Amino acid sequence: MKPPPFTYLRPQTIDEALALLAEHGADAKILAGGQSLVPVMNFRLAAPDCLVDLNRVAGLAGIRLDEGRVVIGAMTRQAVLLGDATIAAHAPLLREAASHVGHVQTRSRGTVGGSLAHGDPAAELPMVMAALGATFVIRSAAGERRASARDFFRGALDTALEPDEILTEIALPAAAPGTRTAFREFARRHGDFAIVAAAAQLGEHGLTAGLGGLEEAPRHCGVLVRKLAGAGDDPDALDRAVERELSGSEPLGDLHAGPEYRRSLAAVALRDCVARVLGP
Ligand code: FAD
Repeated sequence: MKPPPFTYLRPQTIDEALALLAEHGADAKILAGGQSLVPVMNFRLAAPDCLVDLNRVAGLAGIRLDEGRVVIGAMTRQAVLLGDATIAAHAPLLREAASHVGHVQTRSRGTVGGSLAHGDPAAELPMVMAALGATFVIRSAAGERRASARDFFRGALDTALEPDEILTEIALPAAAPGTRTAFREFARRHGDFAIVAAAAQLGEHGLTAGLGGLEEAPRHCGVLVRKLAGAGDDPDALDRAVERELSGSEPLGDLHAGPEYRRSLAAVALRDCVARVLGP
């Protein structure tokens, strides 16, 4: 199927893009890599009157280290995460997660910001951003604001972005040398969206962990981290902390996995990731 007709707008600068979004409001959609938006339009699940294409806007892509943070431009292609030296050294968990996002073809067009703005519950990058405590820089014609990744994802395909806003940058605390990371995903095939994915990192800021695919929004596993912090040498502490983390969850159910099965996959993946980063 083909999408219904729309007006295609191609700004050259961020100010031009913001002005177009302010003018067209909810009738406009931003086009980044098009790997989610175009299929959705082809299926006629979305029918924006106009597309504001960010692909020619200068300054929205790139990765840099800035005062202890890894800063990623929203239009950075997902494939770049796999080959970038700064990501390899200072955001290894993000690199590992990116290798599970779609396929070579989709990663070479799909953007980091597009994945986050789309907010698919089963997407890998939103989950890792929530686990790592990323900060998102968001701009509109009215100015700039920052949102924590843990507040940004509100539900399935539902984020804190307003229709006239552009996610411009993502900032993560840079991982120090020796940081330990683990990522585990259950999917029908490699490259498919996760049925459930888990991630854990142990570094200078302590332990952090996350779960994706389980619920409508990614879960930062703060309960598990707090439980383990007070557990001492108890050999059953990890099992109990995983159980406690998941006790308040509301797992999704679909063709691939019902809520109870999803919950048990989440327990296995989360336990495995945390055990790997804490282990010898
Ligand atoms: P687009 O499709 O262009 O846009 C997506 C949405 O985000 C639109 O609503 C758009 O308006 C909005 N948007 C985009 N950029 C911004 C911005 N900077 N500011 C504000 N709003 C913005 N994803 C996974 O996570 N895991 C997978 O395993 C996976 N497998 C895939 C397999 C296939 C075959 C395909 C086609 C896609 C797959 N995807 C997967 C989705 C892919 O990762 C997309 O690239 C991603 O979801 C959207 O990024 P995009 O740059 O293509 O955004």
